[in-house]
Amino acid sequence: MTPPALICPSCHGELISKATCLYCPPCGKEYPLRDKIPLFAPEMDSFYEGKFTQTHYLYPETVRRFPVLKSFWRLERMLNINARPYRVLNRLSLPSGGEFLDLGCGGGTEQFTRLGKVTGYDISLGSLQMARAVYPEVVQGNVLQLPFADNHFDGVLASHLIGHLPRSEKIIFLKEIIRILKPGGFLILFAETDADHFLFRFARQYPDLYQKDFIRRPGHLGLEFLPDLDMLIQSIGYLPVKRVKLYGFLWAVEHYNHKFSSDYGEQSRFFRGFHSCCRWLASRAFFRETADVLLGIVAPLVLGISSDRQIGEWFLAYQKPEK
Ligand SMILES: [Zn+2]
Repeated sequence: MTPPALICPSCHGELISKATCLYCPPCGKEYPLRDKIPLFAPEMDSFYEGKFTQTHYLYPETVRRFPVLKSFWRLERMLNINARPYRVLNRLSLPSGGEFLDLGCGGGTEQFTRLGKVTGYDISLGSLQMARAVYPEVVQGNVLQLPFADNHFDGVLASHLIGHLPRSEKIIFLKEIIRILKPGGFLILFAETDADHFLFRFARQYPDLYQKDFIRRPGHLGLEFLPDLDMLIQSIGYLPVKRVKLYGFLWAVEHYNHKFSSDYGEQSRFFRGFHSCCRWLASRAFFRETADVLLGIVAPLVLGISSDRQIGEWFLAYQKPEK
């Protein structure tokens, strides 16, 4: 069955569903199906394939098994720094029960399914096979050529994606999204930006390590400071709706070790101590969650007094004009 919104990304022709592929009569292109997932960019991406496959569930496995823990978990999520992006998303009034697209969905985010029907889209087939656990529909392809019909979605979400695109690609990406959004539809970005807080200044004292840990390893080829990114988005025609600071230098405990590899520890005693401390906390669930809750309580206060340049991750919401 062809989901109604799918079109040929190359000529925008209507697709015909065949046994093993989707076929575009106007241009003759065939898009294979694997495990019933339509592949619009079937050649494997050496960087992204299988890289971001983790599914973000509403409840961890223990809580799913023991529903009595659910209210406790919900309370924990109201405070935990890890859940900050979702708390901010929940405060945005969106059309309920609409159609949403999660661009660069990785393994999928169950929280997004509370908004309405979510389609997952990613370059990595391995990620989509995981995302299928939470999204009813998943589609594989490149974010610069979207196989979706014009004016289709009530909202497009892109989490940790925009910083992966160089500026020239951001323009194509943003034009594609505005094409597939309904008039009045929302673009919601959890956007990583360049930042200038004290931890990044430390990190940049080792330019080779900074390039490796902060640019090449996560694929952050297109980090820009917020004003440049915001100006670009508005220049495409989006109207700004909401902007909230998500993270400056306060992150969940585990993220410190993800961001600073142990190579930093070999360079500086500060990072060595910091690393051991974070590793110790991260490996003990009770202390880790307690630390993340405390960080979550402190974060809004610290973010409130941080300048925009000190923020490395933003919640940004825009709307396609009604006319
Ligand atoms: Zn075509």
